[in-house]
Amino acid sequence: MKEVLLMSACLMGVHCRYDGGCKVLSELPQLMERYHIVPVCGEVLGGMTTPRIPSERVGGKVLNCAGEDVTAAFYRGAEEILHLAALYGAKKALLKERSPSCGSGRIYDGSFNGKLTDGWGVTAELLRDNGILIFGESQIKELL
Ligand code: SF4
Repeated sequence: MKEVLLMSACLMGVHCRYDGGCKVLSELPQLMERYHIVPVCGEVLGGMTTPRIPSERVGGKVLNCAGEDVTAAFYRGAEEILHLAALYGAKKALLKERSPSCGSGRIYDGSFNGKLTDGWGVTAELLRDNGILIFGESQIKELL
């Protein structure tokens, strides 16, 4: 049986990014051969619309660039993904780097100026804290 891999849906051509865009990783066919992939998007699963106003983490909160507090939606989405991880027995996740949901280790700093800081997106952090190994797209070779 194939190993389960949670994966940011926006890296699979699903138009769930805040601006309605997406990306398709060129390695997707290889990943699909090797893993049973479960596509996830914490922001959509948290109840947010697409497109939506961009958000960034500021300390323990997530604010959108209009200054609205969207923390609850981000955490709701993260919990839903943790539920899916348990249901599928996922031990690994490939998540979009720098995102306030999916980022791992480096995320946008809350200034909406494209600057990065050390930190984790809400979903990536919750999965990590529950023992799931997180990979960003620049680490994809480690999964192949
Ligand atoms: Fe992609 Fe994650 Fe943002 Fe959804 S929350 S659009 S999966 S980076």
